[in-house]
Amino acid sequence: MALWITHECINCDVCEPECPNEAISMGPEIYQIDAARCTECVGHFDAPQCVQICPVSCIPVNPDHVESPEQLRAKYRRLQAAGDAPGAPAAAASPPASLP
Ligand code: SF4
Ligand code: SF4
Repeated sequence: MALWITHECINCDVCEPECPNEAISMGPEIYQIDAARCTECVGHFDAPQCVQICPVSCIPVNPDHVESPEQLRAKYRRLQAAGDAPGAPAAAASPPASLP
């Protein structure tokens, strides 16, 4: 499952930089999680980093985005293959320019 942030969020800013998938961003009022990018940290860490660091425990699982561990791993691989996540393989970057 992807996770989501409830209205108990106090906008303390600590979770955003901890997300390895850049799934967390500031919304209209509070921080929010992009379910398309949240893998529950699968592929990066053993536990959701945002949940571990949130001081008010306002990041439960999102019942609207139920996903199996395999689906989360597949999402992780898609993000990596797209070169759309930090830590993406270097092969996704442009090759070095050759000298004349
Ligand atoms: S569980 Fe992990 S991937 Fe999902 S929002 Fe939190 S830090 Fe990001
Ligand atoms: S760590 Fe928790 S309280 Fe702080 S911004 Fe993130 S969701 Fe909100």
